[in-house]
Amino acid sequence: MLVVMKPHATEPEIEAVVEKIRSLGLMAHPIPGAQRVAIGITGNKGGLEPELFTTLPGVADAIRVSQPFKLVSREVKEEDTVIDVGGVPLGGSALTVMAGPCSVESKEQLLAAAHAVKKTGARFLRGGAFKPRTSPYEFQGLGEEALKLLALAREETGLKVVTEVMDVETLPMVADYADVLQIGARNMQNYSLLKYLGTIRKPILLKRGPSATIKEWLMAAEYIVSRGNYQVALCERGIRTFETMTRNTLDLNAVPLLKALTHLPVIVDPSHGIGLRAHVAAMARAGVAAGADGIIVEVHPRPEKALSDGQQSLTPAEFDELMRQVRVIAGAIGRAV
Ligand code: PEP
Ligand code: MN
Repeated sequence: MLVVMKPHATEPEIEAVVEKIRSLGLMAHPIPGAQRVAIGITGNKGGLEPELFTTLPGVADAIRVSQPFKLVSREVKEEDTVIDVGGVPLGGSALTVMAGPCSVESKEQLLAAAHAVKKTGARFLRGGAFKPRTSPYEFQGLGEEALKLLALAREETGLKVVTEVMDVETLPMVADYADVLQIGARNMQNYSLLKYLGTIRKPILLKRGPSATIKEWLMAAEYIVSRGNYQVALCERGIRTFETMTRNTLDLNAVPLLKALTHLPVIVDPSHGIGLRAHVAAMARAGVAAGADGIIVEVHPRPEKALSDGQQSLTPAEFDELMRQVRVIAGAIGRAV
């Protein structure tokens, strides 16, 4: 249920509603809006009577939320969520650009990539320290050494750091270094990890599972948000289909659908989505045209030498060209970059 306060409801009136919700053994989630505050209620097993709340001072209405993903739905919050990552917006009207190597491999590699993507207009640096590889014999990431290099790159460039966290054990360490925690596709339904992420106060980039439906993905986001961490962005990175000529099938249907269903920012990952360097720019353009709030792109100073995902990583020059094209598309739909 969503309790909608009157536009001029006072703090004590809002607090009284929150107290009432808690006294029923439920969780209250105040959601500030441009016009008024709303308070989401979770934890109830059956339906609640609206009169429990509509009789309280300052309350305009109490509405049943029809979607199973309650707090992330547009029904409870009409305005787009814009996450403030230390002064840099993630989501919102200006396009969010995240770029960098698949894996952090060395100081030289990371700093070269960071300076290059910064020059081209990215505000977030991506780079994996802990890598979820399909084969146990492949490069697994440099771990904490990579996190230290990401921190150094942030210091040199001012870029915010996005990096993957794979498990609850390493989460405190990764959270110490990262500005945004990436949850990889393989972990989208790792519910113990999602529950833990709900208790911390770090922005989360939740990638879509390779075979997750849009509803399952939104429910995964709800796991995090319902525990009190409201800073979640979604990342479409391609799903597994019968097609074998591309690495995944980038599901751009998801973009307009998500923009209608949820207030969370939607980022598109064309690199993992198609998996082929020659076509990453086209899918980045398509993602932006479909209405994504941002893109995340793999860029490597020497893709042919990359320890992971070289086949889909762009050179800095290719990334420059991608951004030139993306700026044209963004401009055409009234978005700044
Ligand atoms: C990555 O971003 O390098 C990555 C491993 O992505 P995904 O979890 O989408 O496969
Ligand atoms: Mn990768």
